[in-house]
Amino acid sequence: KNHVNVNLGKSGLRVSCLGLGTWVTFGSQISDEVRMAERVMTDAYDSGVNLFDTAEVYASGRAESTLGNILKKKGWRRSSYVVTTKIYWGGQAETERGLSRKHVIEGLRGSLSRLQLDYVDIVFANRSDINAPMEEVVRAMTFVIDRGLAMYWGTSRWNAVEIMVGQSGEPHLTLVPPVCEQAEYHYSRETGCRFSCRSFYHKIGVGAMTWSPLACGLLTGKYNGGVPESSRAAMKGYAWLKERFHSDEGKKQLSKIQELHLLADRLNCTAAQLAIAWCLRSEGVSSVLLGVSNTEQLLENIGSIRVLSLLTPPLIAEMDTLLGNNPRN
Ligand code: NDP
Repeated sequence: KNHVNVNLGKSGLRVSCLGLGTWVTFGSQISDEVRMAERVMTDAYDSGVNLFDTAEVYASGRAESTLGNILKKKGWRRSSYVVTTKIYWGGQAETERGLSRKHVIEGLRGSLSRLQLDYVDIVFANRSDINAPMEEVVRAMTFVIDRGLAMYWGTSRWNAVEIMVGQSGEPHLTLVPPVCEQAEYHYSRETGCRFSCRSFYHKIGVGAMTWSPLACGLLTGKYNGGVPESSRAAMKGYAWLKERFHSDEGKKQLSKIQELHLLADRLNCTAAQLAIAWCLRSEGVSSVLLGVSNTEQLLENIGSIRVLSLLTPPLIAEMDTLLGNNPRN
């Protein structure tokens, strides 16, 4: 086992510092559940990844079904891994969306049935909901935890104020606060994020589980010469990604990345490994969620743990300069 395990925020839950996500891939891009999705999960588990992340909305529930089928088939001890899912977009009806008590409870029951599990370890509110009062959300999350449908709850893409309100609206400490925030974090989402991850962790004990460490693949360099046919940006329904890469902002990112590729060469690692290690080194980041469409990518990305020890303070400072980041932010 080559994985570093850490506490998720200041909770007692021990998670591997790299988790495997299922967005875009499971139940969709990886259509070959038996061979590819299962191989990816098996290789991840065998190399020490104990964290698997999904959501009710991924591939309209098929990501959860695929994950559940594989877990059932593998027969790993339920106590040896962590499954997280996210609730918000559960269906077309008005009542099947958002963070009302009704949808949190019904949505999670739906996820559990697709996952073929009795409970998830963490249920996330996939975004904040202006229509649902915060106390109702926190009470619904407390309810699913008290009923044993989830062990912990977390937030995803909530802003600082929402996270604070979610923490403090707990009369007489009978309500359970969230333990973790899922946030987008990579080279071009550095500003502010590093600061908030650190503050949430130190001030309120909330850990960060970060996502899209490769900015959907951009940071690997695979898009430097255009959009490869078998890549995410070439998939049906992902024209927004292609547009993002072709935008002025995207082009600016690409040119910055070229410099980081040279740095990766110097360190004898790949661009992907350097980008993931960059996320891992950040204080307050408990776990980085990987997305992969095959086992080669997975094994390469797991190699980022080795690169972590190469990220000395002078090297981080050099990277900050290349990226134009202010290290105090
Ligand atoms: P990344 O930014 O790491 O992008 C992953 C994609 O990049 C892969 O599917 C693959 O796409 C490509 N890739 C990965 N590794 C390599 C490699 N070594 N070489 C070349 N290409 C590579 O992560 P994701 O955007 O997938 O996010 C990870 C997870 O985070 C998700 O699965 C999900 O669980 C979670 N997430 C949570 C969100 C939230 O709102 N809370 C939002 C988004 C994600 P391809 O082969 O197709 O080019």
